Amino acid sequence: MSELRQDPTTYDWVIIAKERAKRPWEFRKENMTRPYFPAHSDSCPFCPGNEHRTPEAKAVYGGPGEWKTRVVPNKFAALTTDVTAEREEIGPFRKSPGYGSHEVVIETPRHDNFIPFMDDSDVGGIIRVYRDRYHALKKDPAVRTVIILKNHGRGAGTSLEHPHSQVVASPIVPPSVRRRYEIAVQYYDNTGRCLYCDIRDYELRTSERTIAETEYFIVLHPYASRYPFETWLMPKVHNSSFGNISDDEVADLAATLKQVLLKLYVSLENPDYNMVIHTAPVDDEHKAYFLWHIQIIPRLSLPAGFELGSGIYINHALPEETAEYIRGFEVPNGETA
Ligand SMILES: [Zn+2]
Ligand SMILES: [Zn+2]
Repeated sequence: MSELRQDPTTYDWVIIAKERAKRPWEFRKENMTRPYFPAHSDSCPFCPGNEHRTPEAKAVYGGPGEWKTRVVPNKFAALTTDVTAEREEIGPFRKSPGYGSHEVVIETPRHDNFIPFMDDSDVGGIIRVYRDRYHALKKDPAVRTVIILKNHGRGAGTSLEHPHSQVVASPIVPPSVRRRYEIAVQYYDNTGRCLYCDIRDYELRTSERTIAETEYFIVLHPYASRYPFETWLMPKVHNSSFGNISDDEVADLAATLKQVLLKLYVSLENPDYNMVIHTAPVDDEHKAYFLWHIQIIPRLSLPAGFELGSGIYINHALPEETAEYIRGFEVPNGETA
């Protein structure tokens, strides 16, 4: 029998197709040899020596001669600060010039150095860059939300192999984001507690869907997972905004994120994935009812007509089973990219 599960943070429903469910290891790409990536690629605009092929850097870490991380405006930016953020009504429609910022974080000079294979301190460096850019971009009074995300692999929407992520500052709070807050506020008003902290604590107590617990974070596969191996990283310290992450949390998150991505990389053979940092709009940085967190969505299946038509996702994996599989998964010694 299948099961309908509701996500308490969005009220969205998911069908967990228990009978047609695949076992966790069946999601591995079959007969797949992992692609080979060179340490340097002459044709890659993000590799050292090709700095002139990106717009001028907004920030460079580690020195210009031997940079570690570069932040550059996206050459094909979805949003730009060259226009105004003014809104206009045309009949029943509303529009506004595409105001905002769209930056690329080039995570490393090495073409093949993915997060699972970096030193913890280098991963921590990237997370600190995210925090820096969050604070730099939110200074713009027109900016309402800062979205930090990473697309890995073609199936996740990127054609560039070189390890990179994106920071987008938008002049609107999208309805899907607003809805999460409204639901969280309602829960807070009803119970006096933070919905996300309640979810985290319940998952910690029952430990059916948890994968890891560290000093500052827990990692889990959510109850109403929309996708197989959907993974959330939730902080133990309540903060509505990622911008408030402490240095101790950064160090812990670096090690935790690296482990999570390494396990996904090895157990599913380098799956394509999207990673998004969910954080409060910039005007709501110190709220009691929302907890910032990270969602990782491996692209093992694509939403089809049913999902588009109904808004209900069908997940062919049981989060309890995938969590157990990842929890127990031992990364072979010497595993490298
Ligand atoms: Zn490169
Ligand atoms: Zn909380």
